[in-house]
Amino acid sequence: MNHQFHEVDRLAVRTRADIAAHIRVGRWDDEITHMLGVAPQDVAAVRRQTGIRPRTARKDRVLCSLEEALWGQVRHLADGHAQWLGDLDSYRQPIFLHDGRYHLARRLSYTLGHGREPAGRVVDGCEHPACIAHDHLLDESERVCLGAVLHTLFGPTTAAPTAVGLAVPPPMAGGPAA
Ligand SMILES: [Zn+2]
Repeated sequence: MNHQFHEVDRLAVRTRADIAAHIRVGRWDDEITHMLGVAPQDVAAVRRQTGIRPRTARKDRVLCSLEEALWGQVRHLADGHAQWLGDLDSYRQPIFLHDGRYHLARRLSYTLGHGREPAGRVVDGCEHPACIAHDHLLDESERVCLGAVLHTLFGPTTAAPTAVGLAVPPPMAGGPAA
């Protein structure tokens, strides 16, 4: 039906991708509607496109790849954040189980997005508390590099490091030249 295709077309691309990712990890339609905050008919429309039926999808959950397992727990937001909907470990880090092993979601997102393994610990570099968007994450080398840039721009500071491991730049001394 043309009507159905039109319904799918008007969905934002990222929302469609999120729904498809959640279908691939074997979620029920009700679960997806609730987790992503989307309309049931939108989930049904994307499911028709994927050709994955709910009951076989649940059984096939273990067959999804590591990458699919990651994106099946994420909601992409309009402002570029990738909100983690899955579990957190005792350090409040996004974590998920795949094929009997736990994986750090930010570490995998970083590796996939940058095409390389992060150096050292990966931390969030944005204001969203549960974001795993690869371009919102910083590894050890980027933190050192950005710290040096800030030092050059603003000079040494005694301010406490922020959550992203960077010193807070002090306010600019004096007002703009008249
Ligand atoms: Zn973010």
